[in-house]
Parts: sequence; C-alpha cells; structure tokens
Amino acid sequence: MKCILCERYTFTHICKTCQKNFLSPSFSKRKLPNGIDLISFYKYEEIKKLLFTKHTDLGFYIYTLLAKLSFKQFAQKFHTKEKYISLAIDDTIKSGYSHTAILNHALKTYNISPLYNTIRAKNRISYSGKSKIFRQENPRDFQVKKLKSENIILVDDIVTTGQTLTQACAKIEEQGKTVSFCLALTDVSLK
Ligand SMILES: [Zn+2]
Repeated sequence: MKCILCERYTFTHICKTCQKNFLSPSFSKRKLPNGIDLISFYKYEEIKKLLFTKHTDLGFYIYTLLAKLSFKQFAQKFHTKEKYISLAIDDTIKSGYSHTAILNHALKTYNISPLYNTIRAKNRISYSGKSKIFRQENPRDFQVKKLKSENIILVDDIVTTGQTLTQACAKIEEQGKTVSFCLALTDVSLK
C-alpha cells in the first residue's frame, strides 16, 4: 500500500518516516475554566486531515496509531506511587469503534487503569461546529458511575472550548471527587 502522507510504498497506512516526522507529539498544557489542567499532544492543524478519517474504516487505524504515539508514550513516563483510573468522554460505539476508548486503552500501565462505559452523556447532541453559548445552553447532562478511586484522569479526543470536559469534571465533583487532570489528542484552542 501507499503511505497516506507521502505516497511512498509501505506496509502500514502511514510510513515510519512520516510517523517520526509528522506525528511526534508535543506536550501542551492549559487550564480549563475550572482550573484543572488539560494536557494535549498535537496541534490541531498537524492532525486535522487525519482526524477527518474518524468516521471511516481508516479511522480505527489512525486513532490506534495516534494513541500509541501520544497517550501510550505519556503513560510510560507517568510514574507515581498512587494508582489512577482513566475515564473517556463518550466512549460509546459509533461506526464500529469508540474513538476515545482507543485513546483511553493506550494509557493502561501499572499505575493507570482505564475504565470503560463509566461516563455517559444523556444528551447526545453534537457540539461540533457549535458556539460556546450553544454548548452552555445545551449541557451534555453526564451520568457517572460510582467511582472508587480518588485519582482520576479524564480523556477526550478533540477539545475546543473545554465545555464538555468542564461539565464532566463538575459531574464527578458531585461524588466528592476531583479530576486530577485531563488528556486530549488535540486542543483546538491552541494555535
Ligand atoms: Zn510516509
């Protein structure tokens, strides 16, 4: 097959050279409106075209690759005595697989246990392309299963205003817990 980025012949959809040249993650950090840190791995412009594959067959491969290059790398450098759990926003199955569940799964290591189907939006409305005001007026109405751990990592793929994560954090706080930090593949607000 041909590499989808450079069109050279390769055994994978994206060749090793392109993985190294274009998909080495850069860590960025910002604070969400609630003061919780959001760490992201790619500039939106860098992976925008790849993310458009999200709802195609190629999307599963792309997300698995990006998860391996970013989330997995992060987890392998994240050494703590405390045990963490990680929860993905909206890890319901769409078009055969869940994008955020793939990212969450890549975090699995001795001190991080990914949990699935734990945080669910009752309101399935899409925020894609919608304004901040629209997002605030149409809350996702999250439901969270009872959490046992005090150390919680929240996972999402594409963060824009941070409204979704902020709403999810608030819901977790109702259980008397605090989210330690959030991880996202890309933070659109960073240029
Ligand atoms: Zn290539």
